[in-house]
Parts: sequence; C-alpha cells; structure tokens
Amino acid sequence: MFPTSKVFSVLGMPIHVMSDYPKWLLESLKQGKGAHVVTLNAEMTMQAQQNPSLSKIIQNAELIIPDGAGIVMYLRWLCWQKVQRCPGIELAETLLQAIGLQQADKTVFFYGGANGVAAKAANYWQQKVPTLNIVGTHSGYHSAEEEQQLLQTIAELQPQVILVGLGVPRQELWIAQNRYLCPQAIWIGVGGSFDIWSGSKNRAPAWLANNNLEWLYRLYKEPWRWRRMLALPHFAVKAFVYRLTT
Ligand code: UDP
Repeated sequence: MFPTSKVFSVLGMPIHVMSDYPKWLLESLKQGKGAHVVTLNAEMTMQAQQNPSLSKIIQNAELIIPDGAGIVMYLRWLCWQKVQRCPGIELAETLLQAIGLQQADKTVFFYGGANGVAAKAANYWQQKVPTLNIVGTHSGYHSAEEEQQLLQTIAELQPQVILVGLGVPRQELWIAQNRYLCPQAIWIGVGGSFDIWSGSKNRAPAWLANNNLEWLYRLYKEPWRWRRMLALPHFAVKAFVYRLTT
C-alpha cells in the first residue's frame, strides 16, 4: 500500500509530504508504476521560476521530495511543523539498500558524472550490497552519437531504477525527454551523488547538515558556486513576499 501523502505548494511548485518516501518508491517498483522523482531545493525552485520547461516537468513529476533546508523551513513556516528534510542522496541510498534486500530481481542503471565516476559508484554499491543488480553505467559527458547508443542500451536493458546525475536542470529535462523508453521505471535525478559514492567528493559533516548549513560547506569546497547560490537569499525573500501576499 502507498503511504498517504499531502501536497503543498512552494512558490507554485508542488511538494509531497509523507512519512515514508522509500516505502512509496518500493511500492511503485512492486506495482511497476513508473515515476519521475524530483528532489526539490530552493535553487531548483528559483530556476523553475525562470525556466517554464523545468517548471512544467516538476509539476508533472509523480514524486517531489523536500531535499533542501530552504524548502523545509518554508513548509514549517506554513504551519506544517512535522515536515522533515529528505535529501535525495539519502533517499537513493535507502532505496538501493532496500532493493538489494527485498526486491533483488529489480535492475538498476547509473548515468552521469565524469568519466568512470558512475562505474566507481556502482562498484562501491556492489561491494556494499552484493545482491543489488546494477546492469549498467554511463558517464555524463559524451558525444551525440554515444547518447543515441546509451538510449538504445537503456531501452534494451529496461532497468527498473535509473539514477541520473547530470545536475539541475539537465537531469530533469533528460528524464522527461527519455522516460518513455522505460515507462515502468523509477527515474531519479540525483545531482552529484555519484561523486560522493565514488569517493571523488565528500558530503558536508553531519553537524553542518543538521543545522541546515550544507550549502555553506558546498560553498567553501566549491567557491565557484557563489553565483548559483544567490538563489538561496532570493528564494527566502520571494517565499516571504509570496506568503504575505497570497
Ligand atoms: N554532469 C554530467 N554531465 C554534464 C554536466 C554535469 O554528468 O554535462 C555531472 C557532474 O559531473 C556532477 C553532476 O552532474 O557529477 C552535478 O553535480 P552537482 O552537485 O553540481 O549537482 P546539483 O547541485 O545540480 O544537484
């Protein structure tokens, strides 16, 4: 049975609040119900304000989870006190472990990251969960011809879970364009998760993440992100005004 969910709106973007996201995914897998999972944060919400295609894709996704601290703070401010943050990387990790343990007949594909990163990430998971069936990996940098080959491979393999780490909004646009190839699969945009699983990058320490400061760690590690991160104060101002005027 699917867990019950409530849909809220964050600057016009829907967000699903439920107690057990992995359960929802495992149930979809069991029933062969295809889904596009979007891991919404403030940055993506602000991008969607400027990008109608991205906005439409988010609105059409079957599951939109509160990935970012800004989204959660906004929802709490809207009086939904109980909402918890669900980082996309953690949801993907729980899902991969659960598939290995409970639905080992299901197959998984990793797509994205620099050359060799998805393969390294798959290796990491294969060691961690030997029963997990990762049927293929592909890097996120390639020619148009390679892309055609990749699409053909995915169509032939029909993996039930396809993790796409191309960054926002590239991964969301790519999933929306290609999900018809495996209509029963769960497609998740996982951003830089392969970088973490492959050991190329580290996640923020838990004490920063627990205090809603994961963004500060990323800024420290990757200062070139400062321009993208201006979306965060913009989001805060916009959400404040939106709340007061609607
Ligand atoms: N990436 C990719 N192909 C591209 C551009 C980016 O595979 O053409 C990968 C990049 O190597 C990285 C991920 O996409 O692994 C983006 O990670 P980031 O943490 O920036 O994701 P976001 O913050 O957008 O979720």
